[in-house]
Amino acid sequence: MIYRDFMGLKLSALGLGTMRLPVVGGKGSDIDEGLTAEMIAFAMENGINYYDTAYMYHAGNSEKVVGKILSGYPRDSFFLADKFPGFSEEAFSSPARIFEEQLAKCCTDRFDFYLFHSVTEKNIGGYLDPKYGIMDYLREQKKSGRIGHIGFSCHGDIDCLRRFLDAYRGELDFCQLEVNWFDWTYEKAAGSVALLREYGVPLWVMEPLRGGKLARIGEKYVSELNKLRPDETVPAWSFRFQQTVGATVVLSGMSDMEQLRQNVMTFSSDRPLNNAEFKALVDMGEDMQKSNMVPCTGCRYCTTVCPMELDIPKIIDIYNDNCFSGVVSVPQRAWRRFDPEKTPSACIGCRACEGICPQGIEVAGIMEMLKE
Ligand code: SF4
Ligand code: SF4
Repeated sequence: MIYRDFMGLKLSALGLGTMRLPVVGGKGSDIDEGLTAEMIAFAMENGINYYDTAYMYHAGNSEKVVGKILSGYPRDSFFLADKFPGFSEEAFSSPARIFEEQLAKCCTDRFDFYLFHSVTEKNIGGYLDPKYGIMDYLREQKKSGRIGHIGFSCHGDIDCLRRFLDAYRGELDFCQLEVNWFDWTYEKAAGSVALLREYGVPLWVMEPLRGGKLARIGEKYVSELNKLRPDETVPAWSFRFQQTVGATVVLSGMSDMEQLRQNVMTFSSDRPLNNAEFKALVDMGEDMQKSNMVPCTGCRYCTTVCPMELDIPKIIDIYNDNCFSGVVSVPQRAWRRFDPEKTPSACIGCRACEGICPQGIEVAGIMEMLKE
């Protein structure tokens, strides 16, 4: 495992994200605890010392399961990151209740890293509003040693990012951004990374593979990459990209042992890309953007608010797979895997999903289009 120096700490360059842990029976809230424990044991043995969870991952069960498993290891053998869920008035009004609940669920008395979760244009007002005093509360926790470092994740545009950096200048120890070769131009990640450099704020990367999508690219793209580096796997290309842009920690939400093994192997060495390789990846991302794919990362936040309990990311995934293969509509057979009451036809257009989606995806319109 390679390590990065961060304010006197030695952090593994690969962190274990716990948003996509293995589940039982396909239900997002039912984490397979046995397999997760095996994965964490493997991660620990292979030098991963950074574990990232959040209040809403796996409908609240990620904190519980990960906290319980990690409590079996010496507390100074790992770093634990959690996040304040600024997604509702109720949450903004009760930071202390939520923080205490998170510590209890994670079986710990401190978080080494604590983030404002998913700062966007929609919730930045709440995060900055002195009426709620979220930063005041976090400062107090840091002073008392219950938070090691304060950071934030951001899905907003560059103005939103700059506004947050300006508001808490000098107090934000790190920033977690979605940075990968597809989003370098699509979500304008290049500009955001440059802005962090300007402010001197270290970069953490989330969604390095865009919810796994960048590990499943078409044959024509794979053969282009093979010509450049025949010994690199497709997922490894993404991680080499993040090594090139100077990420301190790259968080990968791994769902099985094979992914974990492969990623650990990739992070046994630093192999940044040369200019031609970097350009080839960015060009490839731009080419893929020409399809009508929906930029869903599979974070599943929307599934926690959908009154019809639709598996929104799975539906979008089916649509995207058809986009990549050049089919303009989704064939009927694709929906046979679904409960007939959980297909896009069941969508009532309430748009609750859109209010929480960090990618700003207009889900209701997509469901309407798929209905047709
Ligand atoms: S718009 Fe449709 S998919 Fe979105 S929350 Fe409402 S019912 Fe669910
Ligand atoms: S639609 Fe948005 S909230 Fe839902 S899984 Fe995709 S990116 Fe996440």
